[in-house]
Amino acid sequence: MEQFDVLRALNDADRWIERVIAQREHLPELDELATLEGELRSLLVALQDAQNAAAPVRAAYLAAQETAKKHLTRVSDLERALATSTGSARELSAMQHELEQVRERVAAAEDEELNRLLELEPLDDSVAAIKARAQPGVARRVELQVAAAQLRATLDEEIAALRESRAELAHSLEPQWRQRYDAAMARVGISGAATVDAGRCDGCRIALSPLDYDRFRHLAPGVAMDCPECGRLLLP
Ligand SMILES: [Zn+2]
Repeated sequence: MEQFDVLRALNDADRWIERVIAQREHLPELDELATLEGELRSLLVALQDAQNAAAPVRAAYLAAQETAKKHLTRVSDLERALATSTGSARELSAMQHELEQVRERVAAAEDEELNRLLELEPLDDSVAAIKARAQPGVARRVELQVAAAQLRATLDEEIAALRESRAELAHSLEPQWRQRYDAAMARVGISGAATVDAGRCDGCRIALSPLDYDRFRHLAPGVAMDCPECGRLLLP
């Protein structure tokens, strides 16, 4: 291959590698994933708030249930004792009095239990609603993570193959051309050469001055000039 053809091919290869790398870094799946992660984080905060709101109410509900149970046990004990008692009228009266008091406590604890339960239900409902809202997002997140990983693996393979053929092209360049190309690429990135399209360097997109453009068009065969702006080799 003629040196300018090799340079053109090398330049195309480098630009192509750059495009694939950019594609790898800006997968639409990753954008969607970032948005989704944000939504899931907000839902997680909402879920924690809802759970925190429900926790003390649930504790109070369970405590009232426990209190009612305890008093109910005392009621049955007293009822049994009264039914079988052989004590004096005074003792019986005292037991009767306690029984009334404990029954009142049972009623109070059961009221508390019911009130707390009524308070707890909507709080539990909102916890369940937040979980239901998050569920499709959690599933979608897994899909996106898998898809992004697969795409990245495919693009990594493509980049590796492109770099391999790029290395072969670079190898078939004569040292002086390779040095100029590599130096320009190291300075400006992406690629080390450019073509001139309608008077503009297609590497930096800046128009050549009339003088430089004229010089470019009248170069001797096998001679190349650098872009005065970006320094890339301008290929005829
Ligand atoms: Zn340029």
